[in-house]
Amino acid sequence: MAVRPTVQIGEPVIRAKAEPVINPVAPEVLAVVGNLVDSMRADNLVGMAAPQIGEGVRVFVSEIRTTVYREKLSDEEDSLKVFINPEILDRSQEIVLGYEGCGSVARAGLFARVPRPSEVTVKAWDEKGEEFTLHAEGLLARVIQHEVDHLDGKVFLDRLENMESVIGRDAYIALNKKS
Ligand SMILES: [Zn+2]
Repeated sequence: MAVRPTVQIGEPVIRAKAEPVINPVAPEVLAVVGNLVDSMRADNLVGMAAPQIGEGVRVFVSEIRTTVYREKLSDEEDSLKVFINPEILDRSQEIVLGYEGCGSVARAGLFARVPRPSEVTVKAWDEKGEEFTLHAEGLLARVIQHEVDHLDGKVFLDRLENMESVIGRDAYIALNKKS
């Protein structure tokens, strides 16, 4: 598989609604999954959605781990997961603030605290074509919501109530340094 350059905000594919996948185990879908995994890792992201590599299909991947942006883990690590045609079935009442950045906003270098439900239940297919339902909290719940937003043409900046918490890349890295 291949590393693809991360598409930046301003490109139409980032603002388009992605199309559902018909056959989750079709070779072209598995190719998108493979390229997403490689591109996510190469770009130091903990989640990445297909539109970010220029593919307008409802697929994203997550892998919660330390990166150059986040030395310290605020939640437990979470192994690689593939979500095809994800659907958020349930969201918690509780809303929490947490910092987010985005590979598609990375060249602008912005991070901000985004309000989101603290827990979600999501249903999707995996790369073997099997349907699963997952209850997530912490950073994984945040990543899932961020990536599903990408499939609907939204980025984290759209979720801000104001611009007060917006910080630059260096300030964000400093915030997440191991002490
Ligand atoms: Zn993003």
